[in-house]
Amino acid sequence: MQLIDWIHAWAKTAPNRTAYTGEGRSLSYGALWTDAVRLSAALRQFPESRFLLRGGKAPEMVVGMLGCLLAGKTYVPISPELPAARLERILELTTPCKLLTADSSRIPDSILISALLEPLPAAEEPAAPENQPAYIIFTSGSTGTPKGVPISRRNLDHFAKWICGLESMRLPAPARVMNTAAFSFDLSVADLCYSLCSGHSLYAPEKDRVADPAGILDFMGTNRIETVVCTPTFLKLCLLDPGFRAAQLCDLQVVYSCGEPLEKKTAGKLLERFPALRLINAYGPTEATSAVCAVQVTRELLAKHDSLPVGKIDNAACRLSIDRDEIILTGESVFSGYLDGNTQGWYLENGQATFRTGDLGSIEGNYLYCKGRRDRQIKWKGYRIELDEIEQTILSIPGVENCAVIAKKTETDTVRLIKAFVVLQSGNVDLLRSNLIRLLPDYMIPKSITELQEIPTTENGKTDRKRLESL
Ligand code: AMP
Repeated sequence: MQLIDWIHAWAKTAPNRTAYTGEGRSLSYGALWTDAVRLSAALRQFPESRFLLRGGKAPEMVVGMLGCLLAGKTYVPISPELPAARLERILELTTPCKLLTADSSRIPDSILISALLEPLPAAEEPAAPENQPAYIIFTSGSTGTPKGVPISRRNLDHFAKWICGLESMRLPAPARVMNTAAFSFDLSVADLCYSLCSGHSLYAPEKDRVADPAGILDFMGTNRIETVVCTPTFLKLCLLDPGFRAAQLCDLQVVYSCGEPLEKKTAGKLLERFPALRLINAYGPTEATSAVCAVQVTRELLAKHDSLPVGKIDNAACRLSIDRDEIILTGESVFSGYLDGNTQGWYLENGQATFRTGDLGSIEGNYLYCKGRRDRQIKWKGYRIELDEIEQTILSIPGVENCAVIAKKTETDTVRLIKAFVVLQSGNVDLLRSNLIRLLPDYMIPKSITELQEIPTTENGKTDRKRLESL
């Protein structure tokens, strides 16, 4: 069964059940389906096959995604917080495309999604072009330009089937699921697929409402959340509040953690506070449709392993293997190359799409372990960042002669802060920072920018990053 068939089935059998709540408005399965069908009819009238969906957590974003899938078009979710220059760059990279917005912010040449929801007079509908990707998610690119990752409809259907089939995720419908990630990040694909295909109700909090642990607690308590899909960073934030425990949040049953290393300490604390919790550690890159494997973290698992596995081999969504210490993914989860035609890390193995993740890892028994990166990609507060992209962006700013960007890490390899060192020909650090704010999302802006006379180099002329780490 395809993802859209599952949602259609819920629209028919439980039309009044809440499918999604965001920005204070709810959408039932019936209304979601009706709106998405209307939108798809409107989208079919456009010659463009790609639609940028710019918005936060408004229900129109979900209608937009489903409408694109129904029309056989490709959606590209974009955060409204993206700086204008980056949005423009993404528009260029995605062209030919149309920009749809969920709110009425005045972006030139954009169309309000709600304006496309009027029923259209019956017209002959062209068949949906099934070969278009389902979506494209942009992630940080080491060349200095964001990388578009197209995910096919087949990839997406395969993922939906896999996540809904995970035994430890199963709850009787309708369960109340909390979304925490922006739709422009692949973690949100997990909560959307899991919740909407299982007939659950997905709740998305407004960003400022969950900026602190008390706000999160309040949101989870008020909505009687049963499943949370989040990053370990989010869990650590929740754990700062002593009230984050089963006595206060008695409905919470499942936590699906993905996107960055789940430390034993975090997992241990969580199981201590929620003794009956099903805690799942899932792993995967955007290039392999959100996640490819998962493992339930139990007290026994914690006691037995020095570091937590990131998944089980026998119920993975694709074939997991290790080559020269690197995690390799093969099969239906894997994309077919980047939007710009770049196939770095991608190849066919016996006719099957294969991706070299850049993650160092090992397989021990039935478990996959992830042991850091072989390149300069980092995870910072759950966000995937190429330090080279920050470096290239700083270097593109007039007045910058040289630059090096490093990540300071803790003993357990968690990034503590991003630091930039610059050599300036003109201007100053404050000016540079204000330029950067226009070019990069806020999570990519180095916390500290230090001006140096020169960037230290090693004997063979490379940037001496070790030395910079000690500064
Ligand atoms: P993204 O494309 O943003 O989903 O990031 C994918 C990268 O996040 C992977 O290649 C890993 O480096 C990291 N990652 C994802 N899940 C986990 C996990 N459970 N444990 C450790 N690292 C993870």
